[in-house]
Amino acid sequence: MDPNAKRFLQFQIMWIAISLGISLALSFLLPFPLNFIAMLGVFLGMNYFMRRRQMRMMGMRGGDSFFGGGLGGSSMFGQQAVEYYCMSCGTKHNQRSCPNCGSNMKRIG
Ligand SMILES: [Zn+2]
Repeated sequence: MDPNAKRFLQFQIMWIAISLGISLALSFLLPFPLNFIAMLGVFLGMNYFMRRRQMRMMGMRGGDSFFGGGLGGSSMFGQQAVEYYCMSCGTKHNQRSCPNCGSNMKRIG
């Protein structure tokens, strides 16, 4: 797994843990109808926050890998299942050489 994805996953797990902790605390502190509403609010808020962050990260990386490799090339058929990552910069691509740094070294991620 490339370090960016790993860091993102750790961040996501951390947020899930935090929101779970808040929900649990609320369910102890508040009476029934209130704690349910508060838990829902925390859950939806976290969801919204995480989706926004995810979209921003995909927007950052999507420039060349999504439109250049995914929609334009042959990766829709055949190569779709296998994902290659550049060994020197970690960019995901399906080309012979890295579109980001030009390196020929790549690994299957
Ligand atoms: Zn590269």
